[in-house]
Amino acid sequence: MSTPGDLIDALRAALGADHVLTADRHDLTGFEQDWRRRARGRALAVARPGTTDEVAAVVRACAAAGVSLVPQGGNTGLVVGSVPDDSGQQVVLSLQRLNRVRALDRANLTLTVEAGCVLQAVQETAEAAGLLFPLSLAAEGSCTIGGNLATNAGGTQVLRYGNARDLCLGLEVVTASGDIWHGLSGLRKDNTGYDLRDLFIGSEGTLGVITAATLKLFPRPAATLTAWAAVPSMQAAVDLLGLAQQRLAAGLTGFEVMGRFALSLVACHLPQLRVPLWQDHPYCVLLENSDSEGEAHARGAFEGLLEAALERGLVSDAVVAESMAQAQALWHIREGIPLAQAEEGLNIKHDISLPVSRIPAFCDETDARLSREIPGVRLVNFGHLGDGNLHYNVQAPAGGDARAFLAEQEARVNQLVYDAVAAHGGSISAEHGVGSLKAACLPHYKDPVALDLMRAVKAALDPAGRLNPGRVLA
Ligand SMILES: Cc1cc2nc3c(=O)[nH]c(=O)nc-3n(C[C@H](O)[C@H](O)[C@H](O)COP(=O)(O)OP(=O)(O)OC[C@H]3O[C@@H](n4cnc5c(N)ncnc54)[C@H](O)[C@@H]3O)c2cc1C
Repeated sequence: MSTPGDLIDALRAALGADHVLTADRHDLTGFEQDWRRRARGRALAVARPGTTDEVAAVVRACAAAGVSLVPQGGNTGLVVGSVPDDSGQQVVLSLQRLNRVRALDRANLTLTVEAGCVLQAVQETAEAAGLLFPLSLAAEGSCTIGGNLATNAGGTQVLRYGNARDLCLGLEVVTASGDIWHGLSGLRKDNTGYDLRDLFIGSEGTLGVITAATLKLFPRPAATLTAWAAVPSMQAAVDLLGLAQQRLAAGLTGFEVMGRFALSLVACHLPQLRVPLWQDHPYCVLLENSDSEGEAHARGAFEGLLEAALERGLVSDAVVAESMAQAQALWHIREGIPLAQAEEGLNIKHDISLPVSRIPAFCDETDARLSREIPGVRLVNFGHLGDGNLHYNVQAPAGGDARAFLAEQEARVNQLVYDAVAAHGGSISAEHGVGSLKAACLPHYKDPVALDLMRAVKAALDPAGRLNPGRVLA
């Protein structure tokens, strides 16, 4: 029977000693602790393969030793899915060294990259070719394309281009048995049976290890303009979205909503970011218009939209960024909300989605219920309204002990919010995934037949349960 030491020797033989890290020789904090510092596990070792064959060798060695694996990209996930448990028995399989660009096909508008490529590097590779890879999120300087696909990441351009799933045409995957599935197709049509690609995308490392992907590219817009609008209510924000979709059609590439308290935290904790129009309005909206004709056309369409919205009372006040720098400053405010929230203290995060039409009623009812049942509670409500996705977060009452508040109230707050989400036909995870953070509550909110089918898929693809156990399915 092999010992943990035998496995580490086998991994060193397969990858070279420099690419197998252990706690006695290395600081493993960056691999063992999650981004939000909600969990710190202990790894038996961190394996850092540099090729797909080496990934397969690691998977086979761990299978032979009966040891489970935790695939990890940039470790920026928000649901505790990419770090080991505290048993000290799991191997972290870091994909960061698999970071080569394999091919760019201009005529086919595709880019094939390895899983450890950082998202920003993928965007820059596309840009250098005069093309666009539109996936964009605040963690793009650290997260990897493998992690983005494993979590089916969303971000700020979903409204126009879709989630990571919609941006991927093919995958290369190492299966739980250590085989390699060569599925790097650049085909937009392929009806030859079950869509395995869609099975692995969003599976959070529980069904296979993504080692490379063929991604869709797009022509770059001729001009991109950003506007900031104050709106009198969430209903007005939803009505403005409808008007913007009607007037700008596919040009509407971003539509973000931010509540007044969320913006007050940015104004307080990130004073270098000057937040416009936030004090006197319950919500502000950030709109992005990407135009294939040019700046004058984009500005004309944007100004026409905002004038119509002002006339109808959907917008109380608005500014259109005059330069790229101003546009970036507005986006920094939106992206600064999670940081400002962290500066304010511990909080309870909810990444939820709802039919857009139900969002005003959901917010009215849930805001009121939370305030009634948990006096002093502060709501940090913001998100990708165009996708029906809210980050509906709950901050502890001002001046109190936030840690004690979380210990006492987190389960109650979660239940209250998730029950309301379910009542309005929504989902308890819009874009961050399930990880281990939401695995226990999934059975309360997921259709039981869907859960059984998911368990059957897991059993078929990973019968020994060695890939990221306890994640997604508890
Ligand atoms: C500041 C910030 C902003 C964010 N904003 C957004 C946002 O707007 N939209 C959004 O959707 N998400 C957002 N996220 C969370 C988002 O899920 C991650 O940033 C990203 O998609 C994860 O990529 P990663 O490489 O860091 O993956 P990791 O965190 O390393 O892993 C995430 C999950 O994927 C699995 N995994 C990783 N790589 C592989 C692989 N190659 N094969 C199989 N499984 C793998 C892991 O086991 C884990 O379950 C944000 C995170 C941060 C910190």
